[in-house]
Amino acid sequence: MRGLRVGLVERGDFASGTSSRSSKLIHGGLRYLEQGEVGLVLEAAAERRALTRIAPHLAKRARLVLPVHGRTGAGLVKFRAGLWTFEKMAKVPDDDRHEIWKRDELLERVPGLGTDKLVGAVIYTEYITDDARLTLETIKSAKRHGARIASYAPAVSIAESRCVTTGGGGKSATPRLEVHVRDELSGRIVAVEAAVVVNAAGPWVDSVRRMSGEGNARMQLTKGIHLVIARDRLPVEGIVVMRAVDHRMVFVVGHGDIVWIGTTDTFYPAPEERPTITREDVDYLLHAVNRTWPGVQISDRDVRGAWAGVRPLVKQEGKSPSEISRRDEILIEPSGLVSIGGGKLTTYRQMAERVVDQVVQRLAAKTAPCRTAEVPLVEDGEPIPMGRASLDTSEVRKAIDEECAMTVADVLERRVRANLFASDNGLDHVESVASALAARAGWKNGRRESEVAAYRSRVAEDLAWRAGA
Ligand SMILES: Cc1cc2nc3c(=O)[nH]c(=O)nc-3n(C[C@H](O)[C@H](O)[C@H](O)COP(=O)(O)OP(=O)(O)OC[C@H]3O[C@@H](n4cnc5c(N)ncnc54)[C@H](O)[C@@H]3O)c2cc1C
Repeated sequence: MRGLRVGLVERGDFASGTSSRSSKLIHGGLRYLEQGEVGLVLEAAAERRALTRIAPHLAKRARLVLPVHGRTGAGLVKFRAGLWTFEKMAKVPDDDRHEIWKRDELLERVPGLGTDKLVGAVIYTEYITDDARLTLETIKSAKRHGARIASYAPAVSIAESRCVTTGGGGKSATPRLEVHVRDELSGRIVAVEAAVVVNAAGPWVDSVRRMSGEGNARMQLTKGIHLVIARDRLPVEGIVVMRAVDHRMVFVVGHGDIVWIGTTDTFYPAPEERPTITREDVDYLLHAVNRTWPGVQISDRDVRGAWAGVRPLVKQEGKSPSEISRRDEILIEPSGLVSIGGGKLTTYRQMAERVVDQVVQRLAAKTAPCRTAEVPLVEDGEPIPMGRASLDTSEVRKAIDEECAMTVADVLERRVRANLFASDNGLDHVESVASALAARAGWKNGRRESEVAAYRSRVAEDLAWRAGA
């Protein structure tokens, strides 16, 4: 959109990393105020406003209920003061301003909450998104504006190109980089030369930095899991905040006919697309729910889906997982590689804007101003409602024909989200989706059958912690 020629290569499917595995909240930034991160508060609040302009269909307004406990009402007064400050700083529109519910009103509106020392709740606005769809629509938008895009195309090595270009008005020579990209369909390696290479590989940022010779690790990964249950087991409207056993905030998000519960925050040693969900992770969340709603008692049997992801955080020695800042950082390596680590889905657009500012500066190029906070993303009608049981054949066709879905998991996990939210985890549709893909891509030699089996085992793996009960 600024007039640069851009290519994007993605190792697997679009959003196959962390960006399909978040809590799916567009945070206004209030929680960063507690940690004194004023810059993050302002950025998150501004980005939330931007997202409601550029993709209103992917930012669904939701009421967040934060129960407050104590012997007196002092806690409520403290929260009220904090919210007042936040709303002023973050320019929160009148419609989104907070409310206070006294204990009786809270118990009427959120039935079943434990009453021990409960004094009331503060209510404020957050937004729910579909993270994988937001990623996909951003990529479709980039394509519409001229970017060349390839999925299943991992960068496998980076080298300095022998070709040299002159930047900065002829004063300095900028080394061009050559990225070797493997086409997973043919196995062929393709060399792509670029004046600037941006490494936005999330949890894999350090792996890509190593390709250009940077040995020091800058990322710290933490894992977070979520559990999905039917909404009739826990009829939560909007979002309710719980305190886990270690006093961390954990969310219950009601959406469609499901509720998701999350998340955890524990160190994780190495980047993985699908980190393992342990018995301990599940118990941590179930304990928080059952303590918050003592009459409900959610058990393993109620959990119909689960997902886990790793946060790509910028390392801060000596801090616990939840203390590590969610700030992002741009790293310019001696090789010229521009890496971006940390950050949040909420602030993705602003992060991209700052990265492109760096790129423009390195190129010493004259470009158009950034317009991504104003120009709407591609909008293909209504977002697919998460949590719906049935699947429409035309949706599957669109995923394959127009949205580059290449495997059964691409369709069921990230295009229509059936494995997370449908009561059958998408298993009722696995055969028909595999047949549609086989016909379209001309799969041979048992590929259709192996795709069906792979999808079935993915679903089983997400619930494998049950076996260790
Ligand atoms: C449990 C959890 C809950 C969260 N909840 C929220 C939330 O509610 N709200 C919020 O704002 N944020 C949330 N976050 C944070 C947010 O999800 C992440 O900050 C964000 O999704 C990271 O995006 P990314 O593009 O940096 O990484 P990714 O989404 O992982 O993207 C990086 C991509 O790079 C690709 N890649 C890796 N290596 C290569 C290679 N060699 N060549 C080509 N491609 C490569 C990967 O396949 C991957 O798709 C949450 C995170 C977690 C883990």
